[in-house]
Amino acid sequence: MQYRYYVGCDLGGTNIKAGLVDMETGKVLATKGKKTHSHEGHEAVMARIADACREVVAAHGLSMDDIGGVGVSAPGRLDLETGETVFFPNLPSHWIRVPLQATVQEALGRPVYILNDVRAITYGEWAYGAGQGVDCMLCFAIGTGIGGGVVMDNQLVLNQGGTAGELGHITIDLNGPLCGCGNHGCVETLASGPAIAAMGLKAVVQGQTTIIGSMAGYDLNKINPYLIAKAAEAGDQVALQIWDLVGDYMAVAIANAALVVGPKKVVVTGGVAAAGDLLLDPIRRGMRRRMIVMPPEEIEIVRGSLGDEAGIIGMAVWAARKGALDE
Ligand SMILES: [Zn+2]
Repeated sequence: MQYRYYVGCDLGGTNIKAGLVDMETGKVLATKGKKTHSHEGHEAVMARIADACREVVAAHGLSMDDIGGVGVSAPGRLDLETGETVFFPNLPSHWIRVPLQATVQEALGRPVYILNDVRAITYGEWAYGAGQGVDCMLCFAIGTGIGGGVVMDNQLVLNQGGTAGELGHITIDLNGPLCGCGNHGCVETLASGPAIAAMGLKAVVQGQTTIIGSMAGYDLNKINPYLIAKAAEAGDQVALQIWDLVGDYMAVAIANAALVVGPKKVVVTGGVAAAGDLLLDPIRRGMRRRMIVMPPEEIEIVRGSLGDEAGIIGMAVWAARKGALDE
């Protein structure tokens, strides 16, 4: 039986967000948010995931019987064979071997599928967003960290237990800063939101000629990528240099990954991507400098088009595709 409606749900460190997705259009028809309150333990959190899914379906006047399946994305490593969590670095107790898929499936009485959150964003952007229509695509989501995902031959690459596609942990500096993953010089340590904020902060503290300090009211905690983008848009040279450097760091990581898979598109998304061409133009310039053997003009660098909904849409599409395979 063909279903029109699927639910995508994102489990985040702070919020749980469920969305009802119309598979004919790829549009999110309704959303329901809840606080994760992860300190209450995984049983309580999984019950809230199921509640959010039920509520978003009811909000649109449907019942769970109208739903083809549910996709739940989560912030960490998963065992896609068993449907268990492996390790969530940012949640209390780290969710080691929690039966996420089975528990939510039992609560909802519908098929449930799970995926890492940035792989979900990748799949959403590929199915209904900026990556639509290409058979090979890379996705980089730049925020507090840098996540990634790879689509090849119209398939999400999930090799090595789903860890394939962790593009934020490509090494771009042999002796670079220590990363949360334990390696040194991952692109995440040099081009993520906190790394960009640190560059702005350093410029202000060093007394460089920049409007970043005054824009932040000389409150160093207020220096963030958004503010540095505003300063760059106003013509601030220090801010422009920061975006050029961040774009070049990203270009190194993107070029390295692109040489492996030969993508037609690279989708850059996440909060930092709001900087738009301030970030994308230096990436494009860096790619042209660094990709000699593969024609960089054949690789389009674009901003994600689904915003916050990419993961929810991606999980709904994933549940639909996996459900069709299981039948
Ligand atoms: Zn790393």
